Amino acid sequence: MKPNLNYLNLQESYLFSLIAKKVSAYQAEHPEKSVLRLGIGDVTLPLAPAVIEAMQSAVAEMGKKETFKGYGPEQGYAFLRESIQGYYARRGIELDATEIFVSDGAKSDCGNVLDIFDKDNVVLVPDPVYPVYVDTNVMAGRKILYMNASMDNGFLPMPDDSVKADIIYLCSPNNPTGAAYTKTQLKAWVDYAKENDAVILYDAAYECFVTTDVARSIYEVEGAKECAIELCSFSKTAGFTGTRCGWTIVPDALIREGVSLRKLWLRRQTTKFNGVSYVVQKGAAAVFSEEGEKQIQANLAYYRENAKMIADCMDEVGIAYTGGKNSPYIWLKCPDGMDSWQFFQYLLEEIQVVGTPGSGFGKNGEGYFRLTAFGSHETTVEACRRLKGLLKK
Ligand code: PLP
Repeated sequence: MKPNLNYLNLQESYLFSLIAKKVSAYQAEHPEKSVLRLGIGDVTLPLAPAVIEAMQSAVAEMGKKETFKGYGPEQGYAFLRESIQGYYARRGIELDATEIFVSDGAKSDCGNVLDIFDKDNVVLVPDPVYPVYVDTNVMAGRKILYMNASMDNGFLPMPDDSVKADIIYLCSPNNPTGAAYTKTQLKAWVDYAKENDAVILYDAAYECFVTTDVARSIYEVEGAKECAIELCSFSKTAGFTGTRCGWTIVPDALIREGVSLRKLWLRRQTTKFNGVSYVVQKGAAAVFSEEGEKQIQANLAYYRENAKMIADCMDEVGIAYTGGKNSPYIWLKCPDGMDSWQFFQYLLEEIQVVGTPGSGFGKNGEGYFRLTAFGSHETTVEACRRLKGLLKK
C-alpha cells in the first residue's frame, strides 16, 4: 500500500490555532482585560424561527410511520431544489432543478467537485485565498498557479491571456478580502474560460451580503452556464454553519470533450453521497419561504450594520481597506509598515481586539488584516471605540 504522499506537500495550517494560543497566553497574563474577538468567520445569530419551525415539524414527521423518510434522493429533495431554483429565478436566472445539487455545505463540495476533473488540469487561484481551494488540489497532486490580488487591482485579479489554466477559482464577495466582482469583470473571466476551454469554480458563499450592483451569481453573465460551476451555502445566508446545507449548480450546457459535467457530477453524487438529512433540507427550504426570507434579511441587516461600523471606523482613522460593503469582511492595510502578526500583537496588547492576520491567507496577505462583522453589536461598537482611540492620528 502506498499512501497519498501528496498530503505531505500540504502546508501546516497554524493560523487559527496560533491565534487561539496567543490570545489565551495574553489572557492568562492579564485576566482583568476584556478581549474582543473580531476575527471569527462563524455566524453568531441563531437560526430563524421559520427554520426552527420547519425542522421541528420535520422531526415530528420522522417519528410517525406514515410520514417517516428513509434515504432521500442523493441530489436533494425536489422541494428544496425547487425553492433554490425560485431563489435564482427571482433574480432573473433560469435554472433547471436538475442542475441544482443539494450538499452538506460549500466546503465539502469544493473538495468533492474535483472528482470530476482529471488530475492533469492546471489550477488557478487568487492569492490571498480561502485555503480550501489550494489544499484540496494539493491533495490531488494538481499544479497550482497563483494570481496576484493586491490594493492595485482592488483585490480582484483579472484574466491574464499569457497564463493557461484549466480550473479557475473565483470567490465573490471574497473571503478574506471582502472584494466583489462586477458583472463586467466576471464577463472577462467567462470570455477567458471559454477561450481556454477552462471551467470556473465560482464560490458564492457570501452572495447574500451583496446590496449594490456587484454580481451575486456568475450566471448573471451570459454564456457562464457553458463554463462555470457555482457553489453556494446556507451557512452565511441563514446561519447554517452548524446545521450544514449548501448547493452546487452544474449547468447542462457545461460540456467538455463531449462529456456533460452535470452527468459526471450526478454519477459522482449518486455513488459517493447519500444526501443531506430530510430535517435539515426542510429547514433550508424554509429559508426561502416568505416568512423565512424576512427573518433572514433581519439577521443579515444586523451583520451589515456591524460591517458598516467597522468600515466607517477605518475611514475615520484613515486606513485603506476593501470589503465592509457587500461583505462581512473588512480587509485592511496594517498601519505604519507593520506586518500582519505585528499588527495582531499590537491590537491584542494595546486594546485587546483580536482579528486575523492576512498572511495566513497567502503571501499577498502579508501586511493586511481581516476583521469580521459576525460579532455582536455591543462587541463591534466597543472594538471600534478602542480602534479609533489607538489608531486615530
Ligand atoms: N467558501 C468560502 C469562501 C467560505 O469562507 C466558507 C466558510 O467560511 C465556505 C465556503 C464554507 O461554507 P460551508 O459552511 O457551506 O461549508
